[in-house]
Amino acid sequence: MEQPKGPFCQSCGMPMEKPEDFGLNADGFRNNDYCHYCLKDGCFTEPHITMDQMIDKVAGMAGEMNMSEGQAMEMAKGFIPRLKRWR
Ligand SMILES: [Zn+2]
Repeated sequence: MEQPKGPFCQSCGMPMEKPEDFGLNADGFRNNDYCHYCLKDGCFTEPHITMDQMIDKVAGMAGEMNMSEGQAMEMAKGFIPRLKRWR
């Protein structure tokens, strides 16, 4: 499987390319591990989400793009568990 070019969010797996893609720490500085959807002001936007819920969410988003829901689910199941937040 092809790895996306890093860095990518260690919670949802979104690739982070532009400075505004990155989440912010409580001190306003950029957090290199998490995207701005997952991390706001140093806190997770969904602190109680489980790994399975994240897989569903990511598969749903990917399904809207260019792959089937099944492919998206396979992909999400393959990479989400390896991210830092879920290990
Ligand atoms: Zn994220």
